[in-house]
Amino acid sequence: MTLPKYRPATLLVHQGKDRDPATGAATVPIYQASTYHHENGASGAYDYARSGNPSREQVEEAVALLEGGVRGFAYASGMAAIGSTLALLKSGDHLIASADLYGGSWRYITGVLPQQGVTCSLVDTSDTNAVRAAITPQTRALFLETPSNPLFQITDLRDMAVIARDNGLISMLDNTFMTPLLQRPLDLGIDISIHSATKFLGGHSDILAGLVTTSNPTLAKRLKYFQNAFGAVLSPFDCFLLSRGIKTLKVRLEAAQATAQALAERLVSHPAITRVWFPGLDDFAARERHFSQAAGAGAVLSFELREEAQVAKLLQRVKLPIIAPSLGGVETILTHCWSMSHAAIPEQDKLRQGISKKLLRISVGLEDLEDLWEDLEGGLR
Ligand code: PLP
Repeated sequence: MTLPKYRPATLLVHQGKDRDPATGAATVPIYQASTYHHENGASGAYDYARSGNPSREQVEEAVALLEGGVRGFAYASGMAAIGSTLALLKSGDHLIASADLYGGSWRYITGVLPQQGVTCSLVDTSDTNAVRAAITPQTRALFLETPSNPLFQITDLRDMAVIARDNGLISMLDNTFMTPLLQRPLDLGIDISIHSATKFLGGHSDILAGLVTTSNPTLAKRLKYFQNAFGAVLSPFDCFLLSRGIKTLKVRLEAAQATAQALAERLVSHPAITRVWFPGLDDFAARERHFSQAAGAGAVLSFELREEAQVAKLLQRVKLPIIAPSLGGVETILTHCWSMSHAAIPEQDKLRQGISKKLLRISVGLEDLEDLWEDLEGGLR
């Protein structure tokens, strides 16, 4: 792939292939076909849709261009992307993962990988020394989230890239919260960037999708082999919707981020709230580290209520947000982390990590700030 000569806003709109090569149509069509004719018995550019099709190729090329990878991969969900990336590990290997992690990733790493003979240490990866100390002769990879979810721990990606290089580990980052627009991990030395494209990249709460890209051609080959062998690929129709969502990422994310900043600043001084986690706040502890590796605070924040009884009241009273375990849509989404996004994690583990029943997460959408504030304030009374 040639180096992109355009800036992110342009890449988001044009995505490598911005029209149908066959007809000039302004969008790449939905190639709704499972198989491709072999002219005179010989395979052409495409032979079977699990191995590749033009609709999927478009979003795969887009994520590689946006992140500076050599090749991209599109999967049927974020978890399919994560599982397919972790398939680079084999029995006997050891993985170090961020302790504060999306609940589904936690479930896969602690529930599925051990069945395949891969052991895992969950470590506070915002503590670089703790990561070094957890490395064993069997360690083969780091699986990171920064900002972590839901407690916004910030892991130093440059440090992790150095640790990975010095110890022969593959570094993997779930970049869902930031998107390639705000954080470009491959530029910082991370080997593999992963997205639940269900979230900001798709942007409309209408598809499940996962994207992966890497700057390492050898890893790209292995990811391609597994993608084709396992087959958890994104359908042509969902590729079309994802490509359409990616085109507007910049305007959506910038607008949502500005509203998130204003909401975070107001929530901090609300008497019903004891703490707000948002990298854009002046007193956010790891602010400097976050902004040394990311171009923005994002559009998701967490907050803790003073009283547990207020949680049910808030969830019942608010009218605008969808109450759900997701994020990154055009509509605001309010999540009770304990019972929704992190339900898969046993109570004791949640409490040990600092996830209380009073913790809520808001993914800020594109509604008017004042309408959102009035709605939330009403719910907090
Ligand atoms: N990573 C993060 C940070 C997430 O929030 C999620 C889903 O909420 C996932 C991965 C999993 O993605 P999906 O639901 O598309 O499988």
